[in-house]
Amino acid sequence: MNAPTPVAALAPTVKLLIGGQFVESKTTEWRDVVNPATQEVLARVPFATAAEIDAAVASAKEAFKTWKKTPIGTRARIFLKLQQLIRENMGELAALLTAEQGKTLPDAEGDVFRGLEVVEHAASIGNLQLGELANNVAGGVDTYTLLQPLGVCAGITPFNFPAMIPLWMFPMAIATGNTFVLKPSEQDPMVTMRLCELALEAGIPPGVLNVIHGGEMAVNAICDHKDIKAVSFVGSTKVGTHVYNRATLAGKRAQCMMGAKNHAIILPDANKEQTLNAIAGASFGAAGQRCMALPVVVLVGEAQKWIPDLVAKAKTLKVSAGTEKGTDVGPLVSCAALARVEGLIERGIADGATLELDGRKPVVPGFEKGNFVGPTIFSNVKPGMAIYDQEIFGPVLALVPAADIDEAIEFINANPNGNGTAIFTQSGAAARKFQEEIDVGQVGINVPIPVPVPLFSFTGSRASKLGDLGPYGKQVIMFYTQTKTVTARWFDDSTTSQGVNTTISL
Ligand code: NAD
Repeated sequence: MNAPTPVAALAPTVKLLIGGQFVESKTTEWRDVVNPATQEVLARVPFATAAEIDAAVASAKEAFKTWKKTPIGTRARIFLKLQQLIRENMGELAALLTAEQGKTLPDAEGDVFRGLEVVEHAASIGNLQLGELANNVAGGVDTYTLLQPLGVCAGITPFNFPAMIPLWMFPMAIATGNTFVLKPSEQDPMVTMRLCELALEAGIPPGVLNVIHGGEMAVNAICDHKDIKAVSFVGSTKVGTHVYNRATLAGKRAQCMMGAKNHAIILPDANKEQTLNAIAGASFGAAGQRCMALPVVVLVGEAQKWIPDLVAKAKTLKVSAGTEKGTDVGPLVSCAALARVEGLIERGIADGATLELDGRKPVVPGFEKGNFVGPTIFSNVKPGMAIYDQEIFGPVLALVPAADIDEAIEFINANPNGNGTAIFTQSGAAARKFQEEIDVGQVGINVPIPVPVPLFSFTGSRASKLGDLGPYGKQVIMFYTQTKTVTARWFDDSTTSQGVNTTISL
């Protein structure tokens, strides 16, 4: 939180969305939304008051009464329209995202596009939310299930995918008949708000989608609120664990997709050029601020000789503002993130890892105030070092040696996180062994960032996920619905009465 500078005070304010209206918060707590390449204050975001949070939930609760009965076709057509509006506004959405978050414009389009795919999926809700029926489970008796919406659901999202992750949540929740309260990241809420504007334009009725802003207080209010039935969270392990415990204690469903420390294995038979390109892209792209980034690479056997090639590849990447043509690595999201990443690089050196490439304080003409760190590579990294044990969330790659694939798999499974992983090899047998034995949610085989498309669900194991069911795909239909099982018998005039039956039978 900060007192506004005279310049910041002139910046536009981010609105709350309550009952179909974009409203100015009455709060006294505000935070600047800052362009990480220039430090320009783009907007000011309110930390909503308790009364405003209650009003958002009340509006969602009221809207649920009619939305839950809205025909499937009406719901689906809203998302058909929304996908069209997102496509038509792709350039503007990407520019807004780059301005407040920092990633390159093509990567920002990717962020929007991966969310757009979920909107397209939500438009097929008629085929997705089907119950089951068994005919004649007893004489003249049928049993069938209804997948009914829960009520008011809430979403809490992180800074690193401000388009994709809100779109993982509200389209599927609303398409299944729920109403929604979203709390975007306070660091970059502007593109999220633009997507919500488009959602209203697509026909989402007042109260069905609401947005509040804030931090810890708003998140705790969501976890505790008696009228919220389910909470979807994406963010760090520390906050996600808190949300899971607090929301489930209050009787809610919760799904928490959390932090990561993803490892790749390179076997010496891998296609060298393809693998080096894939590792450089996944380790340093988005300045390492992806939950599916690859910050650790385990080099098996002869692949340990590839370190100079990896360093050479990393040196070819251009560090600059996300708006500059040809930029590969944009700024970190905030000055605090920059200080943290630089501090961890210091600790890596102090802990005895070998600094193969130092990306600190790169010269970025025209963007001298930006939060930049260039690609940084350490070798001889070991568990117990801060650069291995912590999620750095910056463009810092740790290299670890292993004698064979068994040692590499054992090493990865010993790490507490289980979000994503990848193997690079030309051996089908090695790839299959990896797929069978690795204890990680998303597995790539010669694919560095294996984020599933919405025909499937995002997942995660161990410290990277709490809750059974993942976002989007088939699993989220179960998350956002309550199964009701109906057993029915209809009598006609020819049915003979059996009298009173006091035994359990149909
Ligand atoms: P974060 O946990 O700091 O913030 C996430 C949300 O929680 C934000 O809306 C924030 O306002 C709120 N929050 C922050 N501190 C809080 C507190 N003390 N109490 C209650 N709420 C709080 O995460 P971030 O820095 O925005 O995002 C980066 C993290 O998200 C990384 O750990 C990354 O791996 C993870 N992530 C995971 C996935 C996944 O699918 N597993 C996807 C994207 C990001």
